[in-house]
Amino acid sequence: MMELLGLSILELCYIAASITFIMGLKMLSSPDKARKGNLIAAYGMGIAILATILFKEELTADKWLNYALILAGLIVGTVIGTRMALKVKMTAMPQMVSFFNGMGGACAAVISLVEFDHLLHTGKVEMSMLIVIILGLIIGGVSFSGSIIAYGKLEGKIGDKALPAGQVINIVLLLVMIGLGVFIAMADTQEALYIYILLGVSLLYGVLFVMPIGGADMPVVISLLNSFTGMAAALGGFLYGNQAMLTGGILVGSAGTILTVLMCTAMNRSLTNVLIGSFGGGGAGASGQSGEQGTVKEISVTDAAILLAYANKVSVVPGYGLAVAQAQHTVHNLEKILDDKGVEMNYAIHPVAGRMPGHMNVLLAEADVPYPKLMEMEDANDDMDNTDVVLVIGANDVVNPAAENDPSSPIYGMPIIDVIKAKNIIVMKRSMGKGYAGIENELFFHDKNRMLFGDAKDSLEKLISEVKNL
Ligand code: NDP
Repeated sequence: MMELLGLSILELCYIAASITFIMGLKMLSSPDKARKGNLIAAYGMGIAILATILFKEELTADKWLNYALILAGLIVGTVIGTRMALKVKMTAMPQMVSFFNGMGGACAAVISLVEFDHLLHTGKVEMSMLIVIILGLIIGGVSFSGSIIAYGKLEGKIGDKALPAGQVINIVLLLVMIGLGVFIAMADTQEALYIYILLGVSLLYGVLFVMPIGGADMPVVISLLNSFTGMAAALGGFLYGNQAMLTGGILVGSAGTILTVLMCTAMNRSLTNVLIGSFGGGGAGASGQSGEQGTVKEISVTDAAILLAYANKVSVVPGYGLAVAQAQHTVHNLEKILDDKGVEMNYAIHPVAGRMPGHMNVLLAEADVPYPKLMEMEDANDDMDNTDVVLVIGANDVVNPAAENDPSSPIYGMPIIDVIKAKNIIVMKRSMGKGYAGIENELFFHDKNRMLFGDAKDSLEKLISEVKNL
């Protein structure tokens, strides 16, 4: 094969692909470059796939069936992926990301199965390869089934269900996985049955470990599963000596791990606490179910508009409902109108608001809200005393005081945006409906709070026309 600087064309393509992955990842950290970064990395992936087909082995006519299968796979995958991406609603993006992550895990597990079979048939069983195969199978299997359960939970199809003695079962399954893995690696067995049992146990573990996790801990689990898939892909890259797959996997694995740590810090939890802590999600018996919180006061659009127009400082707490209502552009319009009236408005961003890490940042960036207007939770909380009106738009769990004062609550310990410190609170949502954690919110009954019921976009549009008239 042709060489350049001592490197084969294949290796050069892999280096080029790896560079695009790194560039893409870097660009993803800034909202205005993220789209371009994603495309650049996708082109890099395209180069890596093509180069593998063309240059990995000599193209020969007798392998036509393999080429046909690869082509068919590429076409089917591209058609399904494109259709899903075009059809998906912005609010369903987190589920889709979880689903795709699961597919990555499944690929890694299948690669391990195929390579195990391959290793048995070549008769040359190398211990190092066997370890990589076993790890890929376990991590890929857990990641696949765990991500599919996470997908079901985000889609609202699966609730938070904890088995009695679930933690003990999980620890036993973990020990069985490790034991079986060591056995397969050491026993020099030609028996494929054990590897299938290991796959089964890994899949079961993934289901049981994600199933009971609820409330505020899902974001941490989602990013952890993401890092698992990355690791599993990196193991695949190691197995095939494919540098692009290795770099891609390491990047996903390490980015996922960093995100997991950041999410844990933001949520005030240790990872062990998230994984084996007893969070059953919200249910009866969780915070504030007694119905004795007091009365709920409503505010009219006109009164809300007066409060806003004559305030010095307004802070918006966006949540999942803002994304559902697709009201990001409308809230930005309100910000511009208030700005013209000399009212300073900013956005207080909770790290787990919405349904995916960075959800609110992405949503507001889409509406061209200037980045400096977005305040991180700690800064927003420090500034809350000086805030005249806080507008909670479609947010619920991230402003729930139960996280601070009700130890029986499934979100207890999660930091919240401390809206109670502001002079006036207006909560905009459609009803008294609960948020993701499924629990009541005593903020709605607080003296300072008034509810502006209705779809966030509708209410914001009405507010804008009232504010304009003042
Ligand atoms: P919540 O899910 O707590 O609340 C959203 C609220 O929006 C609901 O109470 C709903 O009330 C309201 N809403 C829905 N549609 C509309 C609409 N069209 N107009 C106005 N309001 C609407 O959201 P938060 O952002 O406060 O909290 C996020 C939750 O999701 C946390 O519990 C977090 O742990 C969890 N989570 C976060 C992930 C992440 O990575 N960010 C991932 C997985 C879970 P109503 O029906 O009355 O309108």
